[in-house]
Amino acid sequence: MMRDERLIFEKSVEGRIGYSLPENDVPVVNPEELFAGQMLRKADPEIPELSEVDVIRHYTNLSKRNYGVDSGFYPLGSCTMKYNPKINEDIASMEGIAQMHPLQNPLSAQGNLEILYRMDKYLSEILGMERVTLQPAAGAQGEMTGLMIIKAYHMYRLDSKRIKIIVPDSSHGTNPASAALAGFEVVHIPSDDKGCVDIKALEDILDDTVAGLMLTNPNTLGLFEEDILQISKMVHECGGLLYYDGANMNAIMGIARPGDMGFDIAHLNLHKTFSTPHGGGGPGSGPIGVVKELVPFLPVPLVEKENDYYVLDYERPLSIGKVKSFYGNFGIILRAYSYIRTMGAQGLKTASQAAVLNANYIRKKLEDLYEIPQNRICMHEFVLSAQRQAKNGITALEIAKNLLDEGIHPPTIYFPLIVHEAMMIEPTETESPETLDAFIEIMRRIAIKAQDDPESLKNAPKTTYVSRLDEVKAARTPVLRWKK
Ligand SMILES: *Cc1c(COP(=O)(O)O)cnc(C)c1O
Repeated sequence: MMRDERLIFEKSVEGRIGYSLPENDVPVVNPEELFAGQMLRKADPEIPELSEVDVIRHYTNLSKRNYGVDSGFYPLGSCTMKYNPKINEDIASMEGIAQMHPLQNPLSAQGNLEILYRMDKYLSEILGMERVTLQPAAGAQGEMTGLMIIKAYHMYRLDSKRIKIIVPDSSHGTNPASAALAGFEVVHIPSDDKGCVDIKALEDILDDTVAGLMLTNPNTLGLFEEDILQISKMVHECGGLLYYDGANMNAIMGIARPGDMGFDIAHLNLHKTFSTPHGGGGPGSGPIGVVKELVPFLPVPLVEKENDYYVLDYERPLSIGKVKSFYGNFGIILRAYSYIRTMGAQGLKTASQAAVLNANYIRKKLEDLYEIPQNRICMHEFVLSAQRQAKNGITALEIAKNLLDEGIHPPTIYFPLIVHEAMMIEPTETESPETLDAFIEIMRRIAIKAQDDPESLKNAPKTTYVSRLDEVKAARTPVLRWKK
């Protein structure tokens, strides 16, 4: 039976209240007198009128409709939806930390400054960089900050003809978007038949108008760019800088470092690799690390240690300025700090190894039923193509919708753009062999049905709260707040 969503959602009843206050025993001030008619509402605010139990049930039921890493498997490629250890939450809610005000005198915030200072050191070590800014609030903002630094660097050297940023055709959409936003001209290079940067094409593009190259390694196909040393040498020789999109760092922590590959700037997605919660748009954290030559351009302030005290250093004349209020999303930085401390150096390395192992395990178990365009050892994720199934009308989208009925969050679909009917699978290291096997079994069942009885797979999902959404309308005209 169809139920009317609006009737279920709309619970406000005029005059109903959810609180009881004691009798007022202080003199009543007339607001008209206090504000002399200024800043006063002309009409009562339009807010829902509900009892306490109405509100509790509303939110409890809404939360049950949600799906997250705490409910089940979430192999959303590129997004690294690993489990978020709850100890991180305990630490982030400790009173001495959570109650601190960002404008407090640094002398009374030494503990928090020490965490920022240490985090700079840890992330620099992981990236193979000299210094890190913790300010950017997301990977995309890290990219933007990095590109502003690239621009500042070339301008400082009076090399103003460098207007181009090169990005591979497999890149994440934020890469060309950040480059364009930072005022650069975006130049795409094709991938070769092995799914990696086409060296010949790169050679043809490189000249003295190139400001830099953006790359993620492993790339969005989950493949390691084995020619990276040659690529960085070529870009540097023509005077450009290399930016590392670190969203795929979960594959190589403690094993390989962007700095050692020849990158000059690199961001990390703390909300991906370092286990802080994400989804729903934030808050996130996208610190960037830079090589020694670029440290003067980092945003202000940096935390420095002077004598025995931590201080906020704003005296940095070449800095590009601030990119975020205060010092970044401190609560998220803190969770990532807790993760790094609980894991330790060896633990982070083991996490990456297990992430790579899990991805390869699934790849091998699906390779006979699904096409895998680059079917070789992958890193933390791999991309399969549902082309074979699509011939029977079971596209990547249909498979994703069927996974919803099985209680699994679907992989990323139709990305990277260079693979037809792409499904990008990133299991992460936090999943057990049982979970991986259950997923494999479901994917195999879907592939067999797609061949023998494709009709039975149409019109999914059938078990979710809502069925197929109008995705375009949801994106173009989202209803984000309650209106009477
Ligand atoms: C997630 C991601 C980004 C962007 O990071 P946000 O934190 O979402 O802004 C950039 N590149 C790749 C490869 C990603 O997976």
